[in-house]
Amino acid sequence: MELFELAKYPFMKEAKEWVKNEKVSVEEILFDELYERARERGVRRVREAIEDGIVGEIPLVDEADCIMEIFSYPVARMIVISIENEYLLRRYALAEAKKAYLHMKIEPFEFIKKLSEEFGIEINGNEIHFLDYLKYAPTWDFKWKLVNRDLKNGYVKIEKNEIARLIQEAIRKKIYDELIYAFAPPEVKKVFKNEIMSIRSKFSFKNKEIKTGEISHQYFPPCIKNLINSAKAGLNIPHVGRFTLVTFLNSIGMDTEEILKIFSSSPDFNSEKTRYQIEHITGKISATIYSTPKCDTIRTWGLCYPDEFCKKVSHPLYYYRRRKK
Ligand code: SF4
Repeated sequence: MELFELAKYPFMKEAKEWVKNEKVSVEEILFDELYERARERGVRRVREAIEDGIVGEIPLVDEADCIMEIFSYPVARMIVISIENEYLLRRYALAEAKKAYLHMKIEPFEFIKKLSEEFGIEINGNEIHFLDYLKYAPTWDFKWKLVNRDLKNGYVKIEKNEIARLIQEAIRKKIYDELIYAFAPPEVKKVFKNEIMSIRSKFSFKNKEIKTGEISHQYFPPCIKNLINSAKAGLNIPHVGRFTLVTFLNSIGMDTEEILKIFSSSPDFNSEKTRYQIEHITGKISATIYSTPKCDTIRTWGLCYPDEFCKKVSHPLYYYRRRKK
């Protein structure tokens, strides 16, 4: 692919390879003046995705524009991961996929076919195997239901724009699946603190929707359940335990008031002091939004009580997200 194409489809393997070959470090992307445009565009990608539901276009005139556009994609991903909100992450994945769809609609058929191969979608002339079709077709829409399609010997007739629509869904899924288990370097929260806080507060009403409907306590990992039970039983929790619990609950979208409630049975509960600690850890009154520690760290603190599922994870948030999926 040419640089211009990589800039339009920065989630493709080839674009990732290109970025790797450039040997630019995360620190350079985050701090070097040279990448300021990429950082600004990365913020814009996220804002547009969340506010408009689609990532907008910018003119790509020369190679320098393309390079900044390509680097803005990993920047946007790191920001979205750091916002730590599944609703916004889903919205971002869809918005990037929609942008790609607009490009695909005007690409030649051969190019679309090549893109489809990356997602394991096999196109034979103007036909697609029904299993590939069903994997990505928006079948909630009457028009896409298999019974309404021309189906012969396991193959469905399909037009170019429809293939692009299937690829849109494949892109959305790929981006979402990659981001939901990803963690950004902690520096990202410092560099983009203002943007992250502003997006979080602007969409805090969405957080509430997620909280009531989507926080699933039954999927909490045993270390977190144990800390919550100890807090509710009024037992004293060591500082590192409180830290782990607050960072975890903040990451899954709980607000200060709800976290505060969990600690309210502690024998030495002091509402103002506890609120201060929570808001410090969650970056509301400090320069850093702290991340949830990994299993290795929690283990060294003696707070790990693994169950069978823990064998598959290295981080409490993985545990929660994988079980909740
Ligand atoms: S293995 Fe990880 S997720 Fe499981 S209890 Fe230990 S720290 Fe928690």
